[in-house]
Amino acid sequence: MTVPEFALNDGTTIPQLGFGVFKVDPDETERIVSDALEVGYRHIDTAAVYGNEVGVGRAIAASGIPRDELYITTKLWNSDQGTQSAFDAMDLSLEKLGLEHVNLYLIHWPRPDLDKYTETWHALEQIQAQGKATSIGVSNFHAPHLDKLLADSTVVPAVDQIELHPAFAQAPLREYLASKGIATEAWGPLGQGKYDLFGKPAVADAAAAHGATPAQVVIRWHLQKGIIVFPKSNSRERMAENFDVFGFELTDAEIAAIDGLEEGLRVGSNPDEATF
Ligand code: NAD
Repeated sequence: MTVPEFALNDGTTIPQLGFGVFKVDPDETERIVSDALEVGYRHIDTAAVYGNEVGVGRAIAASGIPRDELYITTKLWNSDQGTQSAFDAMDLSLEKLGLEHVNLYLIHWPRPDLDKYTETWHALEQIQAQGKATSIGVSNFHAPHLDKLLADSTVVPAVDQIELHPAFAQAPLREYLASKGIATEAWGPLGQGKYDLFGKPAVADAAAAHGATPAQVVIRWHLQKGIIVFPKSNSRERMAENFDVFGFELTDAEIAAIDGLEEGLRVGSNPDEATF
């Protein structure tokens, strides 16, 4: 099974399908990420605030997979926004992961109330220049946050990782990101299981037509729309199911039917208002 490589604006590529570890218990992370690597995932998405970077690092070390075959993302938490605090946060994440560099380092939330994301971005530009992060990007940024950041930066973020699933497909923000050359990454790609996505006829009918599961259909919807996606599951069976999505293709009509599930349904926090 070959996962397509998606080209980023800095000349690097990222596996378009990965594995996310939000809410994966730190005590179980090594086992779960080891399972994911055995299943075939090579792109892992973690964050300092998930508290499980040590487990991710142990699974990487135990796997014996060459570092250049792995794509590792982590994120700077809100309380670490600033210059020196960003440098320290990067070093601590690398230490926990047991890595010399990450492939992608993200500002986790804009926290516009703090008004420090541009300063923090300049620190990430230095972190990238030092080779500690090959690519740098943002998460949960809206167009006004990016407009402000871009007005005062040299490096354009490689990605923006945003909440994105059929009932909250973020079409205007995706269009904005594309116009700036910023790739879209989806978080909560399956709606975090918080609404009945899999029972919707647009999803269930496509699944029946292709002999696939609803989760596989939703992951294909992301992939065929050019979105980078990394669903999470603690179960090895579901990890394998979510990875086995390259044997069929949704038709334009099936994609359009799933597009029709848009209802502005946010399952997470609004970045304009989040103050955690
Ligand atoms: P998700 O949409 O991937 O949903 C995960 C849930 O879906 C699982 O807990 C499971 O209950 C269910 N599921 C998974 N596979 C299934 C299958 N095959 N069949 C049925 N149910 C299945 O949600 P997520 O974990 O929040 O998002 C994916 C990743 O995105 C995270 O792990 C994390 O890496 C990242 N993330 C980032 C942010 C951010 O602010 N940047 C926020 C949330 C998540």
